Amino acid sequence: MAVGSLRSAVTVWRRSIQARVVLSTVLLSAVVVSLVGWTLMQQITDGLVRDRVDAAVAEAARSSNDVQSSLSAAPYDVDVGSQLPALVSTVVSRGAVRGYDVALIGPLSESDTPRVGGGEFSTPGLLLSSIPERLRAVVEEPEGAVTSWTFTGIERSGEGEGSRSEVPGVAVGTRLVVPADGATYALYHLFPMSAEQRTVDLVKRALFTSGALLVVLVAGLSWLVTRQVVTPVRLARRVAERLASGRLEERMQVRGDDDIARLALSFNQMATSLQKQIRKLEDMSAAQRRFVSDVSHELRTPLTTVRMAGDVLHDARERFDPVTARSAELLQNELDRFELLLTDLLEISRFDAGAAVLHLEDVDLAEVAHRVARSVGVLAERRGTRVRVQEPGAPCVVEADVRRVERIVRNLVTNAIDYADSSDVLIMLDCDAEGSALAVRDYGVGLRPGDEVRVFNRFWRADPARVRTSGGTGLGLSISLEDARLHGGWLEAWGAPGEGSQFRLTLPRHAEDALTRSALPLVPRDAFVHRAGAS
Ligand code: ADP
Repeated sequence: MAVGSLRSAVTVWRRSIQARVVLSTVLLSAVVVSLVGWTLMQQITDGLVRDRVDAAVAEAARSSNDVQSSLSAAPYDVDVGSQLPALVSTVVSRGAVRGYDVALIGPLSESDTPRVGGGEFSTPGLLLSSIPERLRAVVEEPEGAVTSWTFTGIERSGEGEGSRSEVPGVAVGTRLVVPADGATYALYHLFPMSAEQRTVDLVKRALFTSGALLVVLVAGLSWLVTRQVVTPVRLARRVAERLASGRLEERMQVRGDDDIARLALSFNQMATSLQKQIRKLEDMSAAQRRFVSDVSHELRTPLTTVRMAGDVLHDARERFDPVTARSAELLQNELDRFELLLTDLLEISRFDAGAAVLHLEDVDLAEVAHRVARSVGVLAERRGTRVRVQEPGAPCVVEADVRRVERIVRNLVTNAIDYADSSDVLIMLDCDAEGSALAVRDYGVGLRPGDEVRVFNRFWRADPARVRTSGGTGLGLSISLEDARLHGGWLEAWGAPGEGSQFRLTLPRHAEDALTRSALPLVPRDAFVHRAGAS
């Protein structure tokens, strides 16, 4: 589930410019807003704390000075022990009014006899653990600084049993000396910073809310802006897809006079000119096809007459002188080729007109292979080659038009015999769940790089000067390819100079089912074997 949603998120990210723009704008603005917010927070907090510390230190100094002056002003015979509690309680009550806590610790020297109650006076409820050890170490040390301050957490015991509260604050400590006997005390002023804390919290909340709102606003804006650009692009894509699928009359809507409208205008102009060109080409190619078809049909009637006259001459050649007899034979041969060419041309024009139809039945490819091997036996013998059929274990049956399949195989085998240079021609068969494959392998001249595609072009020949002994209209393989395609099959070629060639026909089990693989390899397993062995 998590993987599925991650995958769909990745798909949206990859496909949608809008999602990418919105997300990256949101991320960038979130980073910028965070940075600005953090800097602002830092500056506000620093300013508030600095002011509070300055005020606290000044107030503590004033208060300590008061106490110290009162102590110094007391005559020597007055008992400090009775004077100190009154002094400190004055400071404590002043602190209560002004909102700070006070604690007196002393006398500090162990040798001094404690004179003031337990030696500690403080605001009621204040816990002495509020005074950090590090501050006490400085202030209560005879050699330490007389006044020092630090941040702390001010702890108080609450109403309930064991309840306590803590607020952040500043602790300022001052060492007092009683001139009468030289005893030292530490007086601590603790200033809570809860008001500053509240201000900082408020500012933090305000900054966070406005930052979040700003990011949402930026997201909304970028979504709106990209939508304005992306929507026409998406429309253009849809129209382009429809054009590509052959609906040439599709056009984009042109609204206004902005860049998008001009893009739509140019797009439509391009579509119109493409449509015109395509129509022109279609018309030309239809005219060409019609011409070929018409010419072929027109030629049939005179050819039949010429054929009959030729047959008469051929049959009577015994009575002619040798030169005329030879001419009658040549005439007969060329008439054969002419007839073949005309038949192939008519077949091709049927394919072009989309008039070719399949007569389907279950066909065993092994049977077809044997039939073809038998029928070309005489030709093979004449060319000094042998056609062998390598059968698979199981029968390879496909739903096909047997006449067309046999025509393909015969064409491949006669070609192989023609180009085998007297080596053996092998017909291999195999099948799998998808369909069956038949490969015709020869060990003759082979094909040059690129020829494996060109061989299927109409009238293409690797060597036009080559002496032809069979078939040979130059249309054989293009007709075979059309036949294979009509079944939803493949016809492919492989060849290398000196390595021979292999032509592979793959047919689906059921005509027109989609093929994804072939049961036989296109490049034969024995290709390059001898060369690899030699090196
Ligand atoms: P044709 O055989 O009448 O020339 P095809 O369409 O059957 O026409 O073949 C086209 C060309 O493909 C041939 O002229 C030849 O150059 C090449 N070709 C076909 N089969 C082979 C093969 N087995 N080996 C080498 N070249 C081949």
